[in-house]
Amino acid sequence: MSLRSQRAAQLRLYLRAQLGGICCKCGSSVGLQFHLKVGDGRAHHLMSSRDRTYFYLRESVAGNLELHCQRCHGAATTAKVRFVRNQRLFQSIGRVPASAPSAGCSTPQIRSE
Ligand SMILES: [Zn+2]
Repeated sequence: MSLRSQRAAQLRLYLRAQLGGICCKCGSSVGLQFHLKVGDGRAHHLMSSRDRTYFYLRESVAGNLELHCQRCHGAATTAKVRFVRNQRLFQSIGRVPASAPSAGCSTPQIRSE
């Protein structure tokens, strides 16, 4: 592993610790994944692992990053997709959808100093 990759891996561990080290939805510590409260349409998944790590750091500083277990991450993503799909359906028939999925958890965020 290159030095740059090692630094990115250390940064991911640091980010997980800063976000509490557990899923902010259910408290699980298994299969943790970073979750954007306000997503970017999965564009960040086109980045290299290292670039994505620094992207997550910036999002965390902006208060837009949470830690989810695999199950909760999937549920949150599905809820967002369903909301967008329903929003388009409601707009097509001239109605207003109820509300967006919940904003998420209240995990501590990294402060920019
Ligand atoms: Zn969970």
